[in-house]
Parts: sequence; structure tokens; C-alpha cells
Amino acid sequence: MRNAVTLLEHHVLNPATEEVVATVAASTEADVDTAVAKAAKAQAGWAALAPADRARLLRRFAAVVDEHIEELARLEVLEAGHTIGNARWEAGNVRDLLDYAAGGVERLNGRQIPVPGGLDITILEPLGVVGVIAPWNFPMPIAAWGTAPALAAGNAVLLKPAETTPLTALRLAGLALEAGLPEGILQVLPGAGKVAGNALVEHPAVAKIVFTGSTSVGKQIMAKCADRVKRVTLELGGKSANVVFADSDLESAAAAAPMSFLDNAGQDCCARTRILVQRSVHDRFLELLEPAVRAVVVGDPADERTAMGPLISAVQRDRVASYLSDGVPVAIQGEAPGGKGFWFPPTVLAPEDPGARVAVEEVFGPVAVVIPFEDEADAVRLANATDYGLSGSIWTRDVGRAVRVSRAVAAGNLSVNSHSSVRYWTPFGGYKQSGLGRELGPDALTAFTETKNVFISTESAS
Ligand code: NAD
Repeated sequence: MRNAVTLLEHHVLNPATEEVVATVAASTEADVDTAVAKAAKAQAGWAALAPADRARLLRRFAAVVDEHIEELARLEVLEAGHTIGNARWEAGNVRDLLDYAAGGVERLNGRQIPVPGGLDITILEPLGVVGVIAPWNFPMPIAAWGTAPALAAGNAVLLKPAETTPLTALRLAGLALEAGLPEGILQVLPGAGKVAGNALVEHPAVAKIVFTGSTSVGKQIMAKCADRVKRVTLELGGKSANVVFADSDLESAAAAAPMSFLDNAGQDCCARTRILVQRSVHDRFLELLEPAVRAVVVGDPADERTAMGPLISAVQRDRVASYLSDGVPVAIQGEAPGGKGFWFPPTVLAPEDPGARVAVEEVFGPVAVVIPFEDEADAVRLANATDYGLSGSIWTRDVGRAVRVSRAVAAGNLSVNSHSSVRYWTPFGGYKQSGLGRELGPDALTAFTETKNVFISTESAS
């Protein structure tokens, strides 16, 4: 009988202390119904606004977010265990996304295509009500990746945050009202994925789902959207390669490698968790990597000096720990606090078999593997030996090789001699099972429109 009971509320825990910091109501299917009806009503007026007026309101929303950066960042530290430095960047990213999307409103134009005998025009129309389902690993920016361009294109948004991290989403919706956005145009539906999330996916009046989360849930959502031919964007898991060639600046590659898989305690879809190193420099690279990993300060995320905080939950910590019980040799292990909190130490494993579970599955914790390769062809083969294709890095001083390998690796976001993946003004998304569609960048608004083609005959009726 327990399964038949719908949860009425969720406790939000501080992952660094395990204390309950808030209790949030869980939305039911009926709540989703009510929110969809309210959103549909608000959307008609929102879409009818002059583009300059919609842009002005979004810029005001960005300005209000800017006034609350510190408050939003502290909330993110509290509910997600993010380091305060990262959390400030994330709140700033929401502001920048809103500004960038506002800049796109007046440039969201149709076309005129020459057709004999008349005038042919394309009209871009908003989709209507859009559901954004966000994960817990980057609650604030990822909520905004879908929300900002959807609003800018004239849609209403229903945002379903993850069960563990609803607080920043709720605060952002409050700030939207403060900024003057119409009531109903951005609503937050905290609650269980299987209840509130699923109700959004199945609702006939929700025109599109933007889902960021695990590949397994993404597949279920895609199948349900297929039933209704509902638009869907999927940002899913990753197992990205960090390919280090012998001709690279090895010191720089080793110095940068730790935070490419330890940032956000490894709970990052772009984490470079497969470190592939050319065999001739493999041992030297490990010598350089070891002190760099050990130097990463793990601890209180609210402390400005901390580089890595806790994992999100006990479930996640136990999942990550399970990969260490497979018996794969440990090459490097740092330290983590003991006691309360969901801590896990920075860890590098050296599997003999590149097909080992930890080398192919997304761990979503501070764990990477180091695997040697022989030559360029071998590096590309190993980099592509995964069902995922989200991001990756290539370290080399040979420009031709950088271009060849970038072309050969099947991933949506690659960087050369860098681990940078995400900029709000460049497109982001995955190949293979890392996702479907692109977010961010110059085409972000168009992804929330429907194209209508109208042909007007100029032939005289007489
Ligand atoms: P998750 O799939 O468990 O949950 C994501 C969201 O979906 C949550 O809000 C959850 O409540 C909701 N959900 C769960 N089941 C649902 C259902 N049946 N119907 C509708 N909604 C449902 O993922 P998570 O553990 O919160 O996030 C971690 C995953 O997200 C990792 O795999 C990570 O790689 C991925 N991720 C991808 C990107 C990207 O841009 N590609 C970015 C961040 C995270």
C-alpha cells in the first residue's frame, strides 16, 4: 500500500551536514493541471507583447537576479553543497542567460523566400506552454538554460526542479514576479519526478519538454513524448575523455586535469572522467597528476578556500563507492572529511581493462580512470568507445592533430588545451546517448518556436 501514497512534501538536506534546511510541498497531478491552465492563460498575453516590452521585462528580471546573486549562491551552497565560488558563478550565469535571451527577442524573425506568383513568408510562433525538468547537479543554471530562451520566444514555463534541490528554483520564480513578469508565466512545480515530472510529460497542453538528467529517465521521457509527437530536448549523461598526447604541454595538462573531473564533486555531465594518456608519457603524467589531485581542498563548501564539496546525498555517495568495490587498482586517492555529510575523496583508478564498469559508466562522483594509448588512431578509438558523446578535451601542441582528433571524436562539446565546455552564447548538447537537440547559443530561442509558412498569391482574381 505504501507505493499508492503520493508524497506530500520533501525534506531538503544540507549535503555537508545532513541537516534538514527546508520542507517543500510536493506537487500532485492536480497541481500540474492547475498550473498548466494558468500558464496557458498567461502565455497568450505574454506572446502578444511587443518584442521590446518582453525584452525589457526579461532584462529587468536579469537585473533583479543580479541584486540577489549572493542570496541565490548561499541557497545553492545550502541545498546542493556547491562551493560558494561556483555558486556565485552559477547565479551570475542565470543573470547572463536572461540578458542574452532578452537580446534575442527583437532578432527572432521569420523570412521572406522568393516564390513565383506571390509572397511567401515564414512566421515564428511560440510553442505555448513548455515544461523544463531540471536535475540536482546544477539546479540554477540548468533551470535557466531552458527557461530563459523559452520565455524570450513568448512561451510560458513550468519548471520542475529535482526533489533534492527545489529552493533556488522557487526563489527565482519569486524574483521573476518582483521584476514584473506576469503571474503564471513562470511557475515552479517542486515534487517527485514520477508524479509532477511525469504529469508534465503526459499533459496534452504542454507543447515541449526540456529534460536534463540521467540517460535512463531521458529515454522514458522520449518514449512518452513520441506517443504525442511532443517536442523534446534531452541533455543526458556523459563519460568524457581527456586525451593527453606526448607532444602536449604535460605540466599544464596535469595541472588542469583534477578540476576537470572534481569540479562539483564530479557531479558534472561534462566531467572528463576518462583520462587517456599516450603510453610514452603515461608514468610521467601520473607523477605530475598525483600532487595536483592531493592539493584539491575538500571540505565546507561555504568556505572560500574550498575547491570541492560533498556529494548530493547518501544514495549518491553509496553509488559512487560501489565502483571502488569492483577491485580496480587505485592509482591516486586524496582526502575527504569524516563525520556528517556525504563526502567522498578525489580518486583516480587505473583499470587494466578499458571496458571495466568504472571506465564506461557515468559515475557522477569524484572518480576518474587513467588509461594508456599507443597512437592517434588508438586515442580516437578509445575516446569513442562509449555510448555517450557530450564533451571532451584534447591536449596537444600539434594544430593538425588537434583538428583531426576534434573531427574524429563523436562529442558535442570539445576543447583543445582547455577543459572549458559551457558558454551561454555557444551551442551545447550531446551526440549519441548524451542527448538530443542543442541548448544555449544563437539558436536557443528558435528551439522554442514553431515555423509557419504562408503563401499569399499576387495573381489577380479577375
Ligand atoms: P534524474 O534523471 O534522476 O532526474 C532529473 C530530473 O528528472 C529530476 O527533476 C527528477 O525529479 C525528474 N524525473 C525523474 N524521473 C522522472 C520521470 N519518470 N518523469 C519525469 N521526470 C522525472 O537525474 P539526476 O540524478 O537529477 O541528474 C544527474 C544526471 O543528469 C546525470 O546523468 C548527468 O549527466 C545529467 N546531466 C546532464 C546534463 C547535460 O547537459 N547533458 C547536465 C546536467 C546533468
